[in-house]
Amino acid sequence: MNAEHSNLERKGARRRKTPSAERLSKLLKQHYHELAMAAKDGAFVVWASICAPVEILAGFENVVVAIPENHAAMSASKGAGVPLAKKAENLGYSMDICSYARIDLGTEFGGACDSPVGGLPKPNLLLSDTNNCSLLVKWFDVYHRKLGTPHAIIDAPFCYEPQAPADTSFLVGQFQNLIAKMEQLTGQECDIEKVRDAVKNMNEATRYWKEYLQCAEHEPSGLTAFDTFAQMAPFVVMRTQPDIVEHYKLLARETLENMENGIFPVPNERYRLLWDNIAPWHQLRSMSTRLAAMDANLVHATYTSCIGTIEGGFEHYPYEGNTDPLEYLARIQNFSVCPYGLELRFKAMRQIIEKMSIDAVIFASNRSCKVYSLMQLDLKEKISETLGIPTILIDVDHADVRKYNEEGVFLRIESLLEMLDAGRQG
Ligand code: SF4
Repeated sequence: MNAEHSNLERKGARRRKTPSAERLSKLLKQHYHELAMAAKDGAFVVWASICAPVEILAGFENVVVAIPENHAAMSASKGAGVPLAKKAENLGYSMDICSYARIDLGTEFGGACDSPVGGLPKPNLLLSDTNNCSLLVKWFDVYHRKLGTPHAIIDAPFCYEPQAPADTSFLVGQFQNLIAKMEQLTGQECDIEKVRDAVKNMNEATRYWKEYLQCAEHEPSGLTAFDTFAQMAPFVVMRTQPDIVEHYKLLARETLENMENGIFPVPNERYRLLWDNIAPWHQLRSMSTRLAAMDANLVHATYTSCIGTIEGGFEHYPYEGNTDPLEYLARIQNFSVCPYGLELRFKAMRQIIEKMSIDAVIFASNRSCKVYSLMQLDLKEKISETLGIPTILIDVDHADVRKYNEEGVFLRIESLLEMLDAGRQG
């Protein structure tokens, strides 16, 4: 590390671990520990994708859920991404496959010794969702073929506008099939009131989540997108549980209190940036530190802003307690950015840009996640032309650090900040 870089690191030194960060670590440790213990004691284990309606699984006793994407992201953030991905590559899986998939396949078939949590317990059911992408379905299908585990697939329609009633019914029908499959595999009857409770927990948690994200509206922002990348994990792995409601409530409250006490992650914030794509898990600390040292803050990310919303909206999409939980779950399949067409992506970004007073956008073209990266060039052009703010496109891979060039990326970011300075002077 050169002297200039270490000065920057000192200037941008991150805050001490906050109570919510401590609570987050504890929650995640507890989640992976309980998952392993429950599986050992004979619980029914489901491997589900992030977008799958895991709330339905809460209608069954003694069922635990593991999210391979979270395991892969966590492995990448702890430096285990490359060793695990290499194991999959050595088995013949191409480097062009999504790094989440390679990390996960490497853990399962190459040995879990490099995993920060010793891998995931063996699944009794695989539950994938095309709402993520079709690659994920193929990745889960490898386990179906090699382990013989049943594989349920949710086929979510693309999203170009508010969900059509026919699409809602199509999804609800698939959820009913999932319930029937679970009843057959577990020998239990689904308790729909437990599903409703799980939906309520998730909905309450995402309401606090949106309150928390709102803290970015203040200048300087009460948070960074890096905080949101870390703090989204409980939503991903345990969103049906009451614990997370409390966690997000405290997170929102604590962030507001910090702001009232004049505590901000980038106190001299001069540049407010928006990040488009999945978090660069292997760079969270390094990138946030370098940006803060330049008084630049990623105040929002499309990846975390969409949680709790639907169809490119910005506001929280509430659950009315008397609605059919399956219909609500069908509707919120449209929260995730990947299946959006260009207009919905633009709508979502425009609202963030206007509400959060964004100065410039960083489009992170992700070597792994083609589905998120598709359209970024068109969006970039549309945002520059319509909203008149500068944008850059950088190359990243969310979980494979070998496909990331830090200095190349920062050269672009520095020139973006210079462009903003020049615009302010002119
Ligand atoms: S390609 Fe993108 S959406 Fe698909 S599994 Fe990888 S990160 Fe997820």
